[in-house]
Amino acid sequence: KPIVLSGAQPSGQLTIGNYLGALRQWDRMQDDFDCLYCIVDLHAITVRQDPSALRNASLDSLALYLACGIDPERAGIFMQSHVPEHSQLAWVLNCYTQFGELGRMTQFKDKSERHNNNINAGLFTYPVLMAADILLYQANQIPVGQDQKQHLELARDVAMRFNALHGDVFTVPEPFIPKVAARVMSLQDPTKKMSKSDDNPQNFIGLLEEPKVIAKKIKRAVTDSDDPPRVTFDLEAKPGVANLLSILSGVTGKTVPELEAEYQGKMYGHLKTDVADAVVSLLEPLQQRFKEIRADQNLMHKVLHQGAEQARSRAAETLRKVYDAVGFVLP
Ligand code: ATP
Ligand code: MG
Repeated sequence: KPIVLSGAQPSGQLTIGNYLGALRQWDRMQDDFDCLYCIVDLHAITVRQDPSALRNASLDSLALYLACGIDPERAGIFMQSHVPEHSQLAWVLNCYTQFGELGRMTQFKDKSERHNNNINAGLFTYPVLMAADILLYQANQIPVGQDQKQHLELARDVAMRFNALHGDVFTVPEPFIPKVAARVMSLQDPTKKMSKSDDNPQNFIGLLEEPKVIAKKIKRAVTDSDDPPRVTFDLEAKPGVANLLSILSGVTGKTVPELEAEYQGKMYGHLKTDVADAVVSLLEPLQQRFKEIRADQNLMHKVLHQGAEQARSRAAETLRKVYDAVGFVLP
């Protein structure tokens, strides 16, 4: 089976963007692929985290992965920091990645503007660690949201560069980006992507938020003041409405043209009520499962232990090949 690897940062509460862009694909790929899903805690500290909040968010992420249907019998689930090979390979790949390449990464530019008091070296080399996450497992397909496409291209470039110098060490990975809702936008500023680390909680829908809070956020979402209001998908002129349509399409499975036809002659209020209802009915059962799993310390511990063991043995194999290829004396 082709190998799949993906992860999310425990840098806050997972959002509907993370779900539609990534986690839902992870769930769907479990039968046809050899899947590995990690909680990328090493990545999360590229932005300053409160230690107890980070620990809590990491465990919440694990319980959410399971609640979203990721099944430890069918996929490897682990904490990135439990597998030291990620950091070890990242160091080697740092030496095969150019300063200029990293400087062109738009996530670095965005995040260094948002966190301009802490533009640390880790934030700059984030894409190298991500390349290591992927290349370590010889992954073929990487299910991610649209925003990670540029990082994935860098991972491919680094893999090909390394292979050209040292022989076929790495599998060159392919991005796997969903057709709908690959880039869910912020509710208050629909020209920006929705992010769990956004300072303004009005901008995102957290997977664990109270249904009432979620409905309120959606009703307050920015649309536009077209007169008369028309529910049409126009990313340029009506990004807020387009975003609500994408979310509704992602959640219900109806296509955007189907939805446009359905909302002909209706007000934005109708659309918002339906988006809120659809999101809440998706999340209520998920939140119920989350609660049960999160309370089960034994289960969580077992999943992490088993996941780390499986991941480590696979990771060690690649790291050994890499160390040998670059000319290190093997222990
Ligand atoms: P942060 O603000 O800390 O970067 P994030 O919400 O961007 O958090 P990540 O952990 O960086 O989440 O990304 C996890 C996965 O979710 C990635 O595959 C990413 O492409 C995807 N993703 C993130 N935001 C969105 C979004 N708005 N729409 C669709 N997919 C998204
Ligand atoms: Mg992100």
